Amino acid sequence: MRQVAIYGKGGIGKSTTTQNLTAGLAEMGKKVMVVGCDPKADSTRLLLGGLAQKTVLDTLREEGDDIELDAILKEGYGSIKCVESGGPEPGVGCAGRGIITSISMLENLGAYEADLDYVFYDVLGDVVCGGFAMPIREGKAQEIYIVASGEMMALYAANNIAKGIQKYANTGGVRLGGIICNSRKVDNERELLEAFATELGSQLIHFVPRDNQVQRAEIHKKTVIDFSPEAEQADEYRALAKKIEENKMFVIPKPMTQDRLEEILMAHGLMDI
Ligand code: ADP
Ligand code: MG
Repeated sequence: MRQVAIYGKGGIGKSTTTQNLTAGLAEMGKKVMVVGCDPKADSTRLLLGGLAQKTVLDTLREEGDDIELDAILKEGYGSIKCVESGGPEPGVGCAGRGIITSISMLENLGAYEADLDYVFYDVLGDVVCGGFAMPIREGKAQEIYIVASGEMMALYAANNIAKGIQKYANTGGVRLGGIICNSRKVDNERELLEAFATELGSQLIHFVPRDNQVQRAEIHKKTVIDFSPEAEQADEYRALAKKIEENKMFVIPKPMTQDRLEEILMAHGLMDI
């Protein structure tokens, strides 16, 4: 079983990318579980057809500790097992706590079945701190992908996340598997992301184009693979799924200084054009 965490700044496309690529893995016959680690609890909406998945924290709040697995885990597209950890009420408590509670609960209820090929954690956050580091602490997720784009703040967040990974990689087994570019149509974006990934000692594992087909599918509460399997964008997500399946490059990232990040932006990004 490979346990994979997807990190990246808010709004960059983590949930969209995770659901589409896991749909791609399911199409390949893989058995997958997706654990949403964002208080927004929208990590599995496209897999569940919009079905309101009650979060682990809400379920515990309402039903107490004695719950069955099927109260918090629902099967969606391609038999993907879907869980949303949820979060505290806004402004109260640590948003990362839900993740810790959820992972222990899933373990206790036997959700990590031996025949699972993948568990994906879709994790909110610009930095890997506190509860948000949970999936990569104690060897839960061994493998991380960072979703980024050519926008400066996305790269700034990705570099911060790499710092967090480096910290846990030195004490545990977690490794960076690559950077996923979710394009924002920034000039020279692919080259910029390749340079950024290389500087980290990693790779640009796939360049996902920006495509309105994502929105069309989203309105229908579906992944592109489910809604329009013939679309070019569906093939992009299949390609990403295949690259992750075949990935052999796992590194301890070498985050860069702010100055170096800016140099790379100048040399490859739109400032140079
Ligand atoms: P995150 O989980 O990182 O906060 P989301 O996956 O919710 O981000 O993405 C935010 C929005 O961006 C989505 O609602 C979706 O419509 C849009 N989006 C994501 N990826 C793409 C893409 N490749 N092409 C077009 N729109 C996209
Ligand atoms: Mg999300």
